[in-house]
This record gives sequence, structure tokens and C-alpha cells, in this order.
Amino acid sequence: MAHVQSCRVLIAGTGPAGLATALYLLRRRPDLKGQVIALERRRHPRPKVCAGGLIPKTMLALAELDLPLDVPAVSVRRGVARTEVGTVDYRGGGVLCTVVRRDEFDARLARAARQAGLEIIEDCRVGDVQTSADAVMVHATAGDFAADVLVGADGSGSRVREALFERDRQWVGRAVMLDVSAPAARAADFAATPYCFDFTCVSAGIRGYSWSFPCLIGGRPYLNVGIYDQCPRAAVDPARAKAALLDALAQAFPDLPIPAPHQGGYKAFPIRWYAPQQSFVRGRVLLAGDAAGVDPLMGEGISCAFEHGKLAAQALDDFFGGKPDALAAYDAVLHRGAAARKLRRLGVAARLFYGPRHRLYFRLASLSRSAQRIGIDWYNGADHLDEKSIPALLTRWAKAVLFGFPMG
Ligand SMILES: Cc1cc2nc3c(=O)[nH]c(=O)nc-3n(C[C@H](O)[C@H](O)[C@H](O)COP(=O)(O)OP(=O)(O)OC[C@H]3O[C@@H](n4cnc5c(N)ncnc54)[C@H](O)[C@@H]3O)c2cc1C
Repeated sequence: MAHVQSCRVLIAGTGPAGLATALYLLRRRPDLKGQVIALERRRHPRPKVCAGGLIPKTMLALAELDLPLDVPAVSVRRGVARTEVGTVDYRGGGVLCTVVRRDEFDARLARAARQAGLEIIEDCRVGDVQTSADAVMVHATAGDFAADVLVGADGSGSRVREALFERDRQWVGRAVMLDVSAPAARAADFAATPYCFDFTCVSAGIRGYSWSFPCLIGGRPYLNVGIYDQCPRAAVDPARAKAALLDALAQAFPDLPIPAPHQGGYKAFPIRWYAPQQSFVRGRVLLAGDAAGVDPLMGEGISCAFEHGKLAAQALDDFFGGKPDALAAYDAVLHRGAAARKLRRLGVAARLFYGPRHRLYFRLASLSRSAQRIGIDWYNGADHLDEKSIPALLTRWAKAVLFGFPMG
């Protein structure tokens, strides 16, 4: 019989969700050192198709984990949003987004997780998964693994999800991106470059937006540009889907040197978004990050990956501490907890802003500067605002209107 390697916790995938799970878990339970294994189909630093925008909520998670952001990064303090009804140019004072390169960022997280006691087996692809009442068996390219619990953190195309959960595709969006070198005029004052979101493609049936983020590649200024479509299959003829997206991207940023589709350089990747109809736990298997589903409105998923990792670690800690219902409780918290509430609200926002009456909602959103500011702070999770109730947010807004910012 083939050798089977045993451990307490097996993690499929070492993106932010898998690594955050390990980092939070090993902080809570250092006794699990050497008993937590992650399987990664690639090798760090591995490429990841992503714009690398870390919202302030992710920065809070890094601080909570005592992880300094010591990879090259651009701090963005100004944002521009264009819609059919007008343009908002926003400067809130603080950092709106920190843009990293995912190969460098994820490799940094992997190093920290290894130091904390995670064993990472690279070039190892998870294949089949079998579960029984008291264990999970995973067949992977580097061998067979038996674990008390498996965390499926293997991204939007999760093999773990495919093996044990719903095989649905209707909640999978798509983003296409590429890096262009920053035009000389912007490179000269790169620190002041805003990040831009252009929602004008919604009128063409694309449920999403084009973006442009300043970033550093090898120390040189670049712009990462791309377009997100929440429902690529629903919006346009599938045969034309990518061409329609790239047309919309070029129209959004006519001033940038965006190559024609046939010139290549574009990278596309799916984004699974959160839908509360789904389940996130099957017996001893949990899903986290993109495998579970992230922000439907913007496709932002790094903060969700950290949030899921933290919640998964808490569930695992409780489970090993003698609470057999702890894994089922993880499913409940991903349906009803603060993170789930935020994702549900973003799902509602996606239906409004990307739906047939989008002009009306963009117009409403453009009316109040203070509401915009609270909306952005809520989205960014600044000051844990995203964990507050709607009445608490309305009170903040009323205070802002009456007394101005900063608010208590
Ligand atoms: C074009 C684009 C731009 C984006 N921009 C942003 C952004 O600016 N900000 C933001 O917050 N989010 C962004 N996202 C979303 C973000 O990239 C994801 O939400 C985030 O990476 C999710 O982290 P994760 O750990 O769940 O999955 P991933 O980062 O995808 O990690 C999954 C890991 O699992 C590994 N894996 C996959 N299958 C297997 C297998 N069978 N066996 C073993 N290992 C496996 C993969 O190699 C990978 O390392 C973007 C996404 C796209 C597509």
C-alpha cells in the first residue's frame, strides 16, 4: 500500500486564504506546529493574475498578524470613479489602497507561515478528495494525505469544491488584465497617481468596471489595467465575451497605451463571488477565500481571504478544543456573520449598480459627498466600519452631514 502522510490540518492552496488560515491557526495553537500541511500546485514566488490592491481591511489583518508589509508597494491616496452620470474625484486623506505584486506578496506570506510552523509542499496538485466520519483523504501528485480536517483554499476553480460541493458556474465572474508602463507624465509624479474605476461599460451590458492601478514592477512605475465582469456568460455572446471586455477596457482609458487584443499580453482569470445559497462546509472540509466566494460588486477578494482564514482558524481551534459542532458553526458564520453581511450587501449593490436601472443608482450615489465617504470607508473596512449595523452607519452619516468629518 502507498505511504500516506498524516496531519491534523491539510490546506489545499497557498494563496492568501490558505496562508491566512495557517497563520491565524498557528498563532492560536502553536502546539499544532508540524501538524499543519499545505499543498500548493505551483512554487513561490508564483505568478497570480491579480491587480494586487490591498484595501485598508487587509492592512488591519496584516497588523493583527504582526506581518510588516516589506515588499514593494504603492500607497494610493486618491481615487477617480467614472460613471455614465459623472465623475467623482475622491481624496479622503488616508491611504485608500496599497498596491502590491501578488507573486511577491504571497511569497512573503508563505515565508511567514513557514516560520510559524506550516509545512508547504510545492509542485503538488490536489486531485481526488474522499471524506469519512473521522478523516479526510486527499490524493495529490506528491502522494496521499490523511487529515482530521481539510481546508479548501485552492481558489476560484477549487478542486476541493468540485470534488465535494456544488458544481455551479453561475457565480463565477471573470477579470482580464495587463500591465502597461506608466506614461512619462504620470511616472514623474507617480506617488500622486490615483486609482481609477470606470463603470461606463455597464450600459453595454457588462456587469462590472474597468480599472487602472499604479504599481511597481522591478522598481519601475507601471499601471495595472483590467476589466471585471461579474456575469460574463449572461452579459454577452460567449464567443465575443473577451473581445467585448477588451473593447470596453480600451474605451475606458483612451489615454493609456493599451494594446489591441491580438497583440496579446492579457491575462484572464475567474473570480467566484459570494452567493449565500451555497454551502461552505461538508463534514470535515471547509472552503475559504475564492473557493468559498468573495465580493460580487468589485471582485475584491484578498481581504475576504484573510477574513475567511481567521474564521476558519477559530473554527479549527474550537474543533480541536473539543467542540464537535465548530466546523458547522463556520458554515453558519459564513452565512450570518459580519463578513457574510458585508458580502450580501455587496451582492445587493451589484444587482442595483449593474442592473437595468443602473443610471438611477449611480445618480443617487453621486448626490452626497459625505455618503460617498462613508460608503468608501465602509467598503475599505477602515476603522472596522464594515462590521457596523445599518442604523449605526446612518447615524454616522447624519453626524457627518450635521457636523462634518472626522466623525466619532
Ligand atoms: C484580474 C484580477 C484582479 C484582481 N484584483 C484584485 C485586487 O486588486 N484586490 C483584491 O483584493 N482582489 C483582487 N482579485 C481577487 C483576488 O485575486 C482573489 O480573491 C484572491 O487571490 C483569493 O485568494 P485565495 O487564497 O482564495 O485564492 P488564490 O489566490 O487563487 O490562491 C489559490 C492557490 O491555490 C493553488 N491551487 C489551485 N488549485 C490547486 C490544486 N488543485 N492543488 C494545489 N494547489 C492549488 C493556486 O496555485 C494558488 O496558489 C483579482 C482577481 C483577478 C482575477
